[in-house]
Amino acid sequence: MRHKALPFDRDFIETLTQTYPTPFYVYDEKTLRRQARLFNGSFAWNAGFKEHFAVKANPNPHLLAILKQEGLGGDCSSLPELVLCEKAGIVGEEIIFSSNNTPPAEYVKARELGAVINLDDITHIPFLEKHAGLPDVLCFRWNPGPGRHVESVIGNPVEAKYGFTTEQIFEGFEILKRKGVKRFGLHTMVASNLLDDGFFVQTARSMFEFAQELHRKLDVRLEFVNLGGGFGVAYRPEQQPLDLKKIGEGIREEYDSLIAGTPLDPLRICTESGRLVAAESGTLITRVIHEKRTYKNYVGVDACMANLMRPGMYGAYHHITVLGDVKNRPLETVDVVGSLCENCDKFAVDRELPKIEIGDLLAIHDTGAHGYAMGFQYNGKLRCVELLLQECGSVKLIRRAETLDDYFATLI
Ligand SMILES: *Cc1c(COP(=O)(O)O)cnc(C)c1O
Repeated sequence: MRHKALPFDRDFIETLTQTYPTPFYVYDEKTLRRQARLFNGSFAWNAGFKEHFAVKANPNPHLLAILKQEGLGGDCSSLPELVLCEKAGIVGEEIIFSSNNTPPAEYVKARELGAVINLDDITHIPFLEKHAGLPDVLCFRWNPGPGRHVESVIGNPVEAKYGFTTEQIFEGFEILKRKGVKRFGLHTMVASNLLDDGFFVQTARSMFEFAQELHRKLDVRLEFVNLGGGFGVAYRPEQQPLDLKKIGEGIREEYDSLIAGTPLDPLRICTESGRLVAAESGTLITRVIHEKRTYKNYVGVDACMANLMRPGMYGAYHHITVLGDVKNRPLETVDVVGSLCENCDKFAVDRELPKIEIGDLLAIHDTGAHGYAMGFQYNGKLRCVELLLQECGSVKLIRRAETLDDYFATLI
């Protein structure tokens, strides 16, 4: 069992609550930078490597600006995400636009910013050409189909709506060549939140093999392969985290045996992780406001599923720490619940925690990815504050709380 450490203690958070009432998110700059450096360090052997942070995981431009300082790019799939990158100073080919079912205006914006466009379907070649013109560089999203089924949120590739079939990749590159596109990339992403080091090495291997096949058969020389995201987070203390260094080394060995010294060398590698970069840096802080004892024991907190949807939506585990000195309290099994009129609004079910007292502060761990980002306003719940615990130790407000005026702002 790993100890799930926090970068602050109860007193620090209690003091913060005087300025920022709970619930709120607090992000740790040190952890965020550490994770960005982990990606860069693990692939430093590959000249031109870039991790493009998946903006959907955490669309706060203050965090994007920190990641930009660390040399990361952005991975977008909507117009607002493109604009967020632009505002954070992530521009041109630092942006990968990996969208699907894409509206014309989004391709226009991606072209305007000079982003690398990753097409999700062969019919998008004429669609892009018609609405935004074809750029010099294009990437295709490959769906490898049968034979690569892993347990993941995305599930069986055959059932996934994403990407070109293998045959369409060949056909697509032929079309691009005819149309005078000069630079080519290949993308795939068939896993989500996976904690299997070997899988990522295998994925890179099949991309390298495919790159060689495309070169042999079509004389297409890929400039980069994009391994997508899917790098898992060890949300549970008993889970073994990914060893990204080992993954990087494993991919290097595959590169040395399949690419090095061939006409495809140098081949740039890029990734599109959101979760593994941001999850551990974020903590949702909430206060206990009720205790209820019926057929089960409930702990009611002032955050709800509108602040953090993952447990209610996927049954996802998020570790919970009762802040303060609670080691002498007896343990009790409880459900930790929010206030939505939905029975799935639970942060934890049958969780053994130190006996809770009203007024306790709870820290919900690893919520820096798909936490605030997946928030919503159902039941009239307003979105909460986001804070940044800076490296210097001071706290900066990076998003204010929504107000009732915000809630009514779109009404006619
Ligand atoms: C969601 C997504 C990612 C990021 O996935 P993580 O789970 O954050 O690693 C990358 N690329 C695409 C196309 C995605 O949809």
